[in-house]
Amino acid sequence: MANVIVLAERADGALTKTTLEMLTLARSIGTPVAVLTGEGADAHAARATEFGAESIVLDSSAQSEPVGRDVDVLAAAVAHFNSSLVLVAASAAGKETAGRLAIRTGGGVVTDAVRVNPDGGVVQPIFGGAMTVTTHVKGVAVVAIRPSSIAAEPSAGAGTIVTLDVPTSERRRARITATVPGQRSTRPDLAAADVVVSGGRGMGSAAGFALVEQLADTLKGAVGASRAATDAGWYPHRFQVGQTGTTVSPQLYLALGISGAIQHRAGMQTAKTVVVINKDREAPLFELADFGIVGDVSTIVPALIAEITRRRA
Ligand SMILES: Cc1cc2nc3c(=O)[nH]c(=O)nc-3n(C[C@H](O)[C@H](O)[C@H](O)COP(=O)(O)OP(=O)(O)OC[C@H]3O[C@@H](n4cnc5c(N)ncnc54)[C@H](O)[C@@H]3O)c2cc1C
Repeated sequence: MANVIVLAERADGALTKTTLEMLTLARSIGTPVAVLTGEGADAHAARATEFGAESIVLDSSAQSEPVGRDVDVLAAAVAHFNSSLVLVAASAAGKETAGRLAIRTGGGVVTDAVRVNPDGGVVQPIFGGAMTVTTHVKGVAVVAIRPSSIAAEPSAGAGTIVTLDVPTSERRRARITATVPGQRSTRPDLAAADVVVSGGRGMGSAAGFALVEQLADTLKGAVGASRAATDAGWYPHRFQVGQTGTTVSPQLYLALGISGAIQHRAGMQTAKTVVVINKDREAPLFELADFGIVGDVSTIVPALIAEITRRRA
């Protein structure tokens, strides 16, 4: 079977859920090779093995320019394993890596893919999920996989450690001299969260989003927002769900005061269970709902929080 290279991503000191999903996907179509980079990379080899890595390329060198070094290591891994498929997470860093690697290897990029078929066809929803295309890339396919597209399942691989001699590329002209960590939320990452609670214009104001946050925290979920809410300045733009925001695919999606415009649906329609709370029983999002509550968010949401808290006590 062909070697499928997976670039491991880390967050909060662990491999991300998307990395485990990519290893699961790689197993279904070939022989997974995990690439672990950055200081302390070796500490994550066991986890990658648990999810099927047959080989693990370790590069623990300190990185003055993380994406650039990842590209160097991936290019070396592609050559060493004679691979024509590289999976990266469809995050900002993953997509940047994908573009640079495709240039380096003379291959092609497909972003926001949800699957790769055994024949190498890369499956990608387009036009807000209205259509799905399958692409066959000539040469090395560098594929950015959307979080939560595949269910991660453990199945142990051999986990053979491989150290490659990777010279630092002369091609780079930029060097990161300092980094300032952004504000970290204690909530899960929106794109990969199992539970997402989103608020829309129906929350009425920025203050109304306190209710969205309370419900999200009660369910240990992430907070999302419609564009109407982010455009109004009620919640930061980076939490926008939809065609021009983040695509989510959680187990549970709660939409509070969101009408269900096509652009919003594009970002959440693959959620496994959708709960809609809206005072207008004709709101289009009810068409997608597994459970719908017709009512005012200001009364329904506090009642919901109280009931969940009571049942958990
Ligand atoms: C190119 C383009 C890209 C776009 N991208 C996105 C995107 O990525 N994400 C996105 O979300 N939108 C996007 N939009 C905007 C989209 O078309 C809608 O305008 C937006 O999703 C509407 O947000 P909303 O549902 O919160 O607001 P509205 O459509 O105004 O709906 C508010 C809902 O709240 C309900 N409501 C009001 N008060 C209460 C209450 N007290 N209790 C319960 N329910 C109440 C109302 O009945 C209504 O259904 C895009 C638009 C364009 C043109």
